[in-house]
Amino acid sequence: AAPGESRAFAADVARLLHMMVHSVYSDRDVFLRELISNAADACERLRYEAIANPDLLGDDPKPRITLAIDADARRLTLEDNGIGMSRPELIEALGTIAHSGTKAFLERLDAAQGDTANLIGQFGVGFYSAFMVADKVDVISRRAGSDEAWQWSSDGKGTYTVTPVELAEAPARGTRVVLHLMADATSYTERFKLQRIIKDQSGHVPVPITLIDKPGGEASEVTDGAALWTKPKSEITAEEYTDFYRSAAGQFDTPALTIHVHAEGRQEYSLLAFVPSVKPFDLSDPERKGRLKLYVKRVFITDDAEIVPRYLRFVRGLVDSTDLPLNVSREMIQESPILAAIRKSVTGRVLSELEKLAGRDETAYADVWANFGAVLKEGLCEDFERREALLGLARFKTTASGEGWRSLKDYAGALRENQTAIYYIAGDDADRLAASPHLEGFRARGIEVLLLSDSVDSFWVTLGPDFEGKPFKSVTQGAADLAAIPLLDASAPTAPEVPPAVADLLAFIKTTLGDDVADVRASDRLTDSAVCLVASEAGLDRQLEKILSSAGR
Ligand code: ADP
Ligand code: MG
Repeated sequence: AAPGESRAFAADVARLLHMMVHSVYSDRDVFLRELISNAADACERLRYEAIANPDLLGDDPKPRITLAIDADARRLTLEDNGIGMSRPELIEALGTIAHSGTKAFLERLDAAQGDTANLIGQFGVGFYSAFMVADKVDVISRRAGSDEAWQWSSDGKGTYTVTPVELAEAPARGTRVVLHLMADATSYTERFKLQRIIKDQSGHVPVPITLIDKPGGEASEVTDGAALWTKPKSEITAEEYTDFYRSAAGQFDTPALTIHVHAEGRQEYSLLAFVPSVKPFDLSDPERKGRLKLYVKRVFITDDAEIVPRYLRFVRGLVDSTDLPLNVSREMIQESPILAAIRKSVTGRVLSELEKLAGRDETAYADVWANFGAVLKEGLCEDFERREALLGLARFKTTASGEGWRSLKDYAGALRENQTAIYYIAGDDADRLAASPHLEGFRARGIEVLLLSDSVDSFWVTLGPDFEGKPFKSVTQGAADLAAIPLLDASAPTAPEVPPAVADLLAFIKTTLGDDVADVRASDRLTDSAVCLVASEAGLDRQLEKILSSAGR
């Protein structure tokens, strides 16, 4: 076709455009992420080509993205000094569907039959998402090293034009995308809204982004283009880590633990993750969603990739993968075996970093445990593969812990002669538990008892965990098997054979209470109190019974 002649889109593009124009998708902000990520890609591609051909950079070597607002003209202009597009490239890139994610999107669409709004959100359909907010789009581009510039224009209704433009009308190098905003999209000329969207969606794009608030207006940098996590650890200060944590995680505290890893070998990724020093407000969200963001080659992909299990939802930060393909839809990435391998590796890493912290600074670790121990213990119910590691990380209030915490290792190191179980008592309040008469016989024998007061405790202990071969056993459950363990005070009277008078009393109580109790026994678990209630060996722990009955069971 001759220059300027109107050309038809490939059939599938036309279909996609029709959908964008008529989109009911509410989160239209994603168009900006898509255009910025294209601009950043173009800068990265130039960077790469310039390795072989440094002349391409000319006297303008620094990559840059500029967003300019013209509210009166209802126009938004995004310009980059990246690789740019030649005429055939414009036609190929913007007239057909090159984008594999877009292809996948269309395939999904056929299967989904109608629920388009939801699909757009999941996929991010690249350049064409511009037509969610614009009724006309001009793309003026000059490829690096070329002395021609071309303009691609379309109203998204089936055809587009490609015309030559004067070099003076085009960027010296790279691409300018002009969005003529729809009447209902004028809010995208609001400076603060754009700033917020850019920071949220593209805050860590590796090219600085500048905003010009009006024609001839002042330029202000919204992001500086530095991807902190790609730098070597030795070049990053604690303050930079904290700043990044605060802006990326929306927290105000100083992180209790910073994990920065450049993994190489089977999976290549960077992990920059933080354990907060205060409980984030979303910790108790019923969704229990993980909060690690997924990047691929410094481009934000999704914060929904469930990189770590839910019991690590207090960990904030990101994973940036080199191995995942960038052009694949977010949804297909979710199912990728590469992501599965990253999940496993990252989860193991976070747990081992927590363990290391415990090893080098038990006090700092105790603070982490005080904030997030109850969340971590959910893993004991959900992640049997890592149960051992989680039990190793667990800290407890016990009858011997005082103000501090005890690990199971501490506990196991202080077992009494003939002690074959780890004893616990579960309830709502550690102090009240410590005063329970159920503990008397244990105290008299110097046996340490875990005081479990988080509601999750009553669940994991029933799942049959053991630590170094020792099962967990409730002190309120069944006979306490204490006879074999010597009393600390050897002169104290040992439990005698039940004398006839006591046997009579037991029989009397049993007949009086009838079916309300399963049994009435003389016990060596008490030293001061006269009686206590215990659950039967086979039955549920008393605390668990309480929780279940309060839940209406
Ligand atoms: P994707 O970015 O996944 O390839 P898009 O639909 O976002 O898909 O973009 C399609 C293609 O258009 C890109 O692959 C690229 O070749 C080209 N393109 C878009 N924007 C630019 C730009 N600012 N500079 C250079 N090329 C671009
Ligand atoms: Mg793109």
